Amino acid sequence: MPIAERQSVAAACWSCAAPLATASAFCDACGKVQPFAENVDYFAAFDLPRKLHIDISALERSFYRLSRKLHPDVYARASAQEQQWSLDQTSLLNDAYRTLKNPVSRTEYLLKLEGVNIESERSENGAQKESRVPADLLEEVFELNMQLEEMRMNRKMGEDDPSLRTDLEKAKTHFDAELATCDAGLQALWTDWDTAVDANTAGVKEKMVTLLDRRRYIRNLVRDVNEALGI
Ligand SMILES: [Zn+2]
Repeated sequence: MPIAERQSVAAACWSCAAPLATASAFCDACGKVQPFAENVDYFAAFDLPRKLHIDISALERSFYRLSRKLHPDVYARASAQEQQWSLDQTSLLNDAYRTLKNPVSRTEYLLKLEGVNIESERSENGAQKESRVPADLLEEVFELNMQLEEMRMNRKMGEDDPSLRTDLEKAKTHFDAELATCDAGLQALWTDWDTAVDANTAGVKEKMVTLLDRRRYIRNLVRDVNEALGI
């Protein structure tokens, strides 16, 4: 069913026919749980605008308030249909909360809503997609990969090379800092997005995609270093 059609179907409460906001889990007039609609915008599910700086504690409060209202105990005596809807709404709510709470998945989700095709943090089959080395990190990454290889060999042979370990610890500190720089950059782009939602935001979206790619790459490096160090 096309989205517009589905929205018009969901525009009135099934029980009392009061008008509804599209993403409402409940009818304001009678309080009844509403049929679950697919493709509900997670921001709308929490009655939030499509902005990236969000008040996490307010999000948390809404989540717990809605979760309590949807709790199976509340529906113990309701119809099977309402019980099912409450379960469906709960699972939507959980997905929305998880996605919006995490800064990276929130940014990725917004970009997806905006029609930007981005590589997901979690690839479909669990395997990491090959991502390109950011040009300014080529040399460091090359050196790091050699050190990692050496570390793995040492481990296999049951040997320990303290200077290699020190090098890797230094690399870890360095890339942890790079990761923090990415996060700060991302927050600055959030502000650009949030303050220019109606203006030309194509450039901001593109910058976010680039930064997310860089962040993903560095995070994988840090993970590899941690593994090698046994952290
Ligand atoms: Zn109603």
